Amino acid sequence: MTSQIEKLCEEKRIKLTENRRIIARVISESIDHPDVEEVYARASKINNKIGIATVYRAVKMFEELGVIAKHDFGGKGRARYEKIEETEHHDHLVDITTDEVHEFFDEELEKLKTKIAQEKGFELIGHRLELYCRPIKK
Ligand SMILES: [Zn+2]
Repeated sequence: MTSQIEKLCEEKRIKLTENRRIIARVISESIDHPDVEEVYARASKINNKIGIATVYRAVKMFEELGVIAKHDFGGKGRARYEKIEETEHHDHLVDITTDEVHEFFDEELEKLKTKIAQEKGFELIGHRLELYCRPIKK
């Protein structure tokens, strides 16, 4: 099955090597915002000949093509990645005690972002929100 990242690359007429296809699939199937090391660990399970340098280059290329998004959630200080879904938007809540990332969407919040921009005389064209949290002690 062709992954979403592969499809987007095809649309942009980018030819992918077999290794890059594997990396594209790994990121497409990830729901946990992996960093490069994690992508590498998963890709090398599929083909143990894939090197970390190949993963770094592929991730950089996908990012430059705009088919994956790079996030800096603090924590270990490593950039983390996810596929971009053109029809879907979500924000992130980061649990600083575990580095776990939860996705959320809030209609009210989305309206508020547009409203804030408009009140300042701007049209909102993109936005990103990260909440840094720790669990409430009970
Ligand atoms: Zn996300």
